[in-house]
Amino acid sequence: MDGPSGSGKSSASRGVARALGLRYLDTGAMYRAVTWWVLDQGIDLADAETIAARATEPVLEMSTDPENSGVTIDGIDVNGPIREATVTGAVSAVAAVPEVRAHLVALQRELIAGTPEGMVVEGRDIGTVVAPHAPVKIYLTASAEARARRRNAELSGSTVEAQVADMARRDTLDSTRKADPLTMAADAVEVDTTELGLDEVIAEILRLVKE
Ligand code: C5P
Repeated sequence: MDGPSGSGKSSASRGVARALGLRYLDTGAMYRAVTWWVLDQGIDLADAETIAARATEPVLEMSTDPENSGVTIDGIDVNGPIREATVTGAVSAVAAVPEVRAHLVALQRELIAGTPEGMVVEGRDIGTVVAPHAPVKIYLTASAEARARRRNAELSGSTVEAQVADMARRDTLDSTRKADPLTMAADAVEVDTTELGLDEVIAEILRLVKE
């Protein structure tokens, strides 16, 4: 399941995993956790060389339980901090470093291979890079306003206008970076969630899975 921020990927992926008894992997949390670590280490975000050289240093552990998904880095629970504005503002820069991507894509493939019961994986490059042979590929979209409204409901202390601006900046960075840019896989099905409630999105995806 791929798509831009605020398209409803996390809730939909978790809901589909629950409905089908599958595991769930939030790859955005992995990029966010590495970004938290880069900031914690005092590494300059503009110093892509150092980020690249140290990308494999931190130990990431993912829980793929849809009821209790999460990430630890070097044993530290960072599920709260990775949603804060400092990490959100920095993550696209870290995610653009090819060595970071290569490392996390390898970890994601390992997790998928070690999960024979199957997994709903959400991100930006799952259908195109991480799992090009996935049996079902969904690309979620929504209008910029709907996406900002959803994010705003999740985060406090931020206006819808500020959210629109931040998401537009992140989407531009994510779609124009050289390494694995956000793009819909040729064989993905696009689901526009602008006018749909969460239950309707999940029902539509379950229908596509059954097809
Ligand atoms: O999905 P979420 O908003 O948590 O993702 C945070 C950031 O991580 C994205 O804006 C993007 O820069 C990066 N990301 C990525 N590839 C993925 C998942 C996330 O580049 N598969």
